[in-house]
Amino acid sequence: MIKYKLNCLSCNQSFESWFANSIEYEKLKKKNMINCFFCNSKNINKSIMAPNLQHRSKDNIIKNSSLKTNREIDKKIQNFQNFIKKNFEYVGSNFAYKARSLHYNNKENQKGIFGSASSKEIKELNEEGISTQILPWIEKKDN
Ligand SMILES: [Zn+2]
Repeated sequence: MIKYKLNCLSCNQSFESWFANSIEYEKLKKKNMINCFFCNSKNINKSIMAPNLQHRSKDNIIKNSSLKTNREIDKKIQNFQNFIKKNFEYVGSNFAYKARSLHYNNKENQKGIFGSASSKEIKELNEEGISTQILPWIEKKDN
């Protein structure tokens, strides 16, 4: 079975129709047995329907690009992590405590800190007016 999109040259409508194969279509066409669904005109031409093919190739593009994009994102995150590691002090799970002491002691020119905190701690910090940023982080397995 083959599906064709048929265009009517008389009324400019298009419609879809199934044929056993392209030979059957040609046969019917020659015998003038294909009529416009809308105006009955026999002035029809066909364009092949390939929605599945198009869909498949689109999927492939997404798959390929997402792999590439993932790698780029990983690279960006790692660059970003290197920047953070160089410029911020790592405080591990003491983050909430350290963030408070930084905030309340109001130390100038102090290195920023980074570490881990639970979402509850982050919420509490935010409520106290201590702004935090949640960063994407990749733990390297070889660390
Ligand atoms: Zn028509």
